[in-house]
Amino acid sequence: MPSRSALFSQRSLIIALLILLACGFLATSLLGYFSSRGAIRDGIVNTELPLTSDTVYSEIQKDLIRPVLISSMIAQDTFLRDWVLAGEQEPERITRYLDEILSQQNTCTAFFVSERSHTYYQAKGVLKQVKPDAWRDAWYYRVRESQAPYEINVDLDMANHDKLTVFINYRVLDYDQRFIGAAGVGLSVESVVKLIDAYQQRYQRAVLFTDANGKVILTGSDGSMHGLRAGQQLADSKAFETLLARMPVPSPGSHEYQDEAGHSHFLNVRPIPELDWYLLVDKRESGALDRVRQSLYLNLAICAMITLVVLSLLNAMVKRHQQSIESLATLDSLTGLPNRRSFDLLAGQALQQAKRENAPLVALLIDLDHFKLLNDTHGHLAGDEVLRQFANVLQGSLRQSDILCRWGGEEFIVLLRETEGRQAIDVAEKVRRRTEQLIFSYNDQPLRLTTSIGLSALQPDDSLHSLLTRADHALYRAKQGGRNRVCSEMPGAVHA
Ligand code: GH3
Ligand code: MG
Ligand code: MG
Repeated sequence: MPSRSALFSQRSLIIALLILLACGFLATSLLGYFSSRGAIRDGIVNTELPLTSDTVYSEIQKDLIRPVLISSMIAQDTFLRDWVLAGEQEPERITRYLDEILSQQNTCTAFFVSERSHTYYQAKGVLKQVKPDAWRDAWYYRVRESQAPYEINVDLDMANHDKLTVFINYRVLDYDQRFIGAAGVGLSVESVVKLIDAYQQRYQRAVLFTDANGKVILTGSDGSMHGLRAGQQLADSKAFETLLARMPVPSPGSHEYQDEAGHSHFLNVRPIPELDWYLLVDKRESGALDRVRQSLYLNLAICAMITLVVLSLLNAMVKRHQQSIESLATLDSLTGLPNRRSFDLLAGQALQQAKRENAPLVALLIDLDHFKLLNDTHGHLAGDEVLRQFANVLQGSLRQSDILCRWGGEEFIVLLRETEGRQAIDVAEKVRRRTEQLIFSYNDQPLRLTTSIGLSALQPDDSLHSLLTRADHALYRAKQGGRNRVCSEMPGAVHA
């Protein structure tokens, strides 16, 4: 049985190793996790979101800035101004002019509204008269009063089945800089919306445009950043609460904020000076880091498994080592038989049991004859080999329940349990005969050997010592009697 201090040191060894492995694995896994997290965050903030902004921005430029130039060209066209100043004669001349613009510039509408007649001209003819109290015409009166040369207005186009259209409303001035109407083109924003949709779906980024005050101007068609729609304010979404506390109106750069559910977001804000708009590109942190987190968990699981395997292997090894140390302490290293130490223990138990149950027990003291001569003649190694082979003979002649030990040198002790004197003498005779008949061998050299055996039977008041002393007497007599014989000291009778 392992001692308490051995158990303690074994447990502390395993705990120390467990702590060491756990700390090592945890440190490397967390280090890896945090460095990949940092790299991913840097990638999002410094590369991904700005790149999306750039792409959407260049698309916007293509789609929105060109019409501003076309509108400016119309507003400064001398034909248009001369025609208005000449009294707007032959309206088909202006409608043909607008139709030309439409087909040449590939816009979806081109228009002119006259300040003198309040007539709304477009490519297909006269559309209507603008009126100050019509909400659809509010834009015109706004432009009329505006200081800026033009405005951009995302609106529904009445002449085009109410399609969402970006109108460039340019002020037209006569040669004396007096306001004579508004002209411009309208352009469907479908391509920009499609682009926003594609980005939102493919890269899990939300894209939207706001004006300088944070009013949403354009979003994707199916769902937008935090559910915001065109016309709403950023403040209408609770998700922006913490962000707007720091940034009440859009300000260019990279921002990080937490939405109302506690999710972290990265937001890139880019100004579009040509339109006085802001482009917002947003990405949720958890989506981007899910894979890194998953690989951290996988990593930790693998580390835990390795730790478990290493510790179980170590435990098994320590146990085996301990067992072999214990068996070394109790077994004789040459013959593999129990040694004197373990014999004392086993014999003490066997004696107690025999006395308690009043069962017979016989001790045999066995000594090889002239063993010194064998050593001297054939060498010590031959003697060792003969001892090993003799131990096998002994083991083969006894029952499982009998106790056998190498007492020392070429002497062996056997305790036969539940065995009467007569039976015991038969067993001893069998051992003696087998030894005498067996040809021991060492290096293919035949060696012969005999043995002398002394017997004593357990008496009620016997101790192990008195039992063995009588067996020793009997053995002495066997030696004296000429060796290769069995002698016993039984109560009342002495066998020779
Ligand atoms: P006897 O018949 O009187 O018993 O004569 P003996 O030579 O056997 O008796 P003795 O006790 O004088 O000699 C025992 C020898 O056994 C001496 C010792 O060197 C040898 N011996 C003891 N242990 C070992 C061992 O482990 N290996 C070998 N090879 N020899 C051993
Ligand atoms: Mg001896
Ligand atoms: Mg001897």
